[in-house]
Amino acid sequence: MTNQPMLQQLAKDVWAYIQPDGGWMINNMGLIARPDGLTSVDVTSTERRTRDYLDAVDRTVGGRVHRVVLTHAHPDHCNGASLLPEAEIIAHRSVADELRAPHALAPHIFTPFTQGAAEPRLPTIVFDDSLTIAPGDRPIKVRHPGMTAHTSGDAFVWLPTERVLFTGDLVFNGGTPFALSGSLRGWMHVLDELAALDPLTVVPGHGPVGGPELFEPVHSYLSFVIEAAADANERGLSPLEAARGLDLGPFANWPERERIVGNLHRALAELRGTEVDMPSAWQDMYEYNDGASLDCHA
Ligand SMILES: [Zn+2]
Repeated sequence: MTNQPMLQQLAKDVWAYIQPDGGWMINNMGLIARPDGLTSVDVTSTERRTRDYLDAVDRTVGGRVHRVVLTHAHPDHCNGASLLPEAEIIAHRSVADELRAPHALAPHIFTPFTQGAAEPRLPTIVFDDSLTIAPGDRPIKVRHPGMTAHTSGDAFVWLPTERVLFTGDLVFNGGTPFALSGSLRGWMHVLDELAALDPLTVVPGHGPVGGPELFEPVHSYLSFVIEAAADANERGLSPLEAARGLDLGPFANWPERERIVGNLHRALAELRGTEVDMPSAWQDMYEYNDGASLDCHA
């Protein structure tokens, strides 16, 4: 097993670009070739990583990336867009709003990494429900799931002919799902919708490619967090207190376990009908991580 990012062919004219180890700021991309050019599903966090991706595309597939579909507004999925200044950028309307008003994290939250000359670009095409790229016998369907899940502007990319699904961060494979900027209940509902598509191949936002078996672990983790939040709410605990007293059970060995704190912030806010204080949520993840910066290998 190589630890290098690689372009993995999934079907004729369809690839995933998988970046180990899938941790903080290390996401996956998709690539689809059609007669009018290449469509990239997302870009990535840093200049170096985005250039490596574009080199791999050039070597393996050839041709220029004509358009980028952003699966949501998180920086790992969007930052590299400035390295594709000519490409169309397609995203849900909320992504445009979120990219216009980014919330900066305190510098100590993550271990330092070099972003380089990689910046997000605002979408050039926004949609509300869905759009189809390359209509015909091998369409690329881009859909918003109709509710907030991982974020309010999620999009997934579905290739019905090849039965390949690019989920963005609606699926994590191996790492802890992160719901701080989303809705746990919405996300669980959306996982059922994704499963109903009956995909053969599922490309998660982080972690290795799999099949429909990837949905269940995410679903059970979210359900676990909702139960833990209900218990914490009854006991009047803060998200950090609740996380510190919580046995993560089957999820204890998943990387980025500190996300439990952000997830409890969101789940408790949903229960209490309040807003999440984002800087506090990030600071609490840092505290839970023994007062150390979260490991970022971007
Ligand atoms: Zn994300």
